[in-house]
Amino acid sequence: MKKDNFEIAVFAGDGVGREIMNEALKVLRLISDRRKIKLSIAEGYVGGSAYDLFGVPLPQQSLDLAMHCDAVLLGAVGGPAWENLDYSLRPERALLGLREKLGLYANLRPVTVFDELLDASPLKKSVVQGIDIMIVRELTGDVYFGQPRGVTKGQDGKRKGVNTMVYTEDEIARIAVRAFEIALSRKRNLLSVDKANVLETTELWRTVVTEVGRNYPEVTLKHMYVDNCAMQLIRNPAQFDVIVTTNLFGDILSDEAAMLTGSIGMLPSASLGKDSALYEPIHGSAPDIAGKNIANPLATILSVALMLRYSLAMPEDASLVEKAVAEVLKEGFRTQDIYSEGNKLVGTEEMGNQIITMLKQLLN
Ligand code: NAD
Repeated sequence: MKKDNFEIAVFAGDGVGREIMNEALKVLRLISDRRKIKLSIAEGYVGGSAYDLFGVPLPQQSLDLAMHCDAVLLGAVGGPAWENLDYSLRPERALLGLREKLGLYANLRPVTVFDELLDASPLKKSVVQGIDIMIVRELTGDVYFGQPRGVTKGQDGKRKGVNTMVYTEDEIARIAVRAFEIALSRKRNLLSVDKANVLETTELWRTVVTEVGRNYPEVTLKHMYVDNCAMQLIRNPAQFDVIVTTNLFGDILSDEAAMLTGSIGMLPSASLGKDSALYEPIHGSAPDIAGKNIANPLATILSVALMLRYSLAMPEDASLVEKAVAEVLKEGFRTQDIYSEGNKLVGTEEMGNQIITMLKQLLN
């Protein structure tokens, strides 16, 4: 039987977090009212605001909350007030702590360009028009976690830095299965990105992804070296459907792909584990515009769409939220970051209200 009762942990975080979260929660509540889904929304503190209250960026009660909920929705953390704290107490440590403790091994970043925002891209319209890419980045392995690591001094007194690229076949198979499943729900093309010509770890990556692919005959699997992929993302991004790659390569390629859209306030993300999931915009806490009601809430609203799709099994409603965003942009409403002449400049709250008005029409 389909579940109709969900618990969501909400961490607004710092900077613009509260403002953008207010608008995203309106969307979540509207959908749950209309669909008669029971949503328990519990708010907690992470990041700088948690440090101010509890002396740590990820208090135990926030972690407990995140661990027993069906999904976590996060605004953003960080800001100048906490920049000089010890590394272990910085707001950003909360993100790493949540990823690690929730076992969030798959990071999903959809990269789409709304037709109305084509001008915001640093690339030519003809190159970015129609792109619809899903980047699936492995998030808990690779050089970021491999041992040994560190900087040591040799007998000759010279320093040496070491990080270890390591993947087990289980880790590779786990992320590959996710990527194939996602490809099945899209255009059924999966590209695996590695550097198998020079790195043995990613030679294993290529082998295991190919083995997993035998269980997904409906998906066309291709492989590409990371340097070529970096180039192709700029040359012809429309060729890609789903890209799966390692933690390090995914970190770099997903930021490169994000820039194709030219608008950081528009891009959502999902980090998925076996039983947990965290949804957040890709942008930071934007302290320079915090408290001014000018931040773009659409990345966070689109993160709610991802939550509906991947955690609440409501893919039709996820698409409706995405459609509402596209329609509101078509009507010319723009926050300052995506504004161009001839459009209607609105603040954070009004943008949220426009989405709600549109969504109500679409839900009828
Ligand atoms: P940022 O993404 O916060 O801001 C970069 C630029 O984009 C700023 O000019 C900002 O005003 C603008 N911007 C960002 N989001 C916007 C939005 N929704 N609407 C309109 N404009 C927006 O990156 P930064 O300035 O490098 O970092 C600020 C703080 O955020 C730092 O403390 C950093 O560590 C933290 N950070 C947090 C996360 C996260 O919580 N996931 C991610 C990145 C950075």
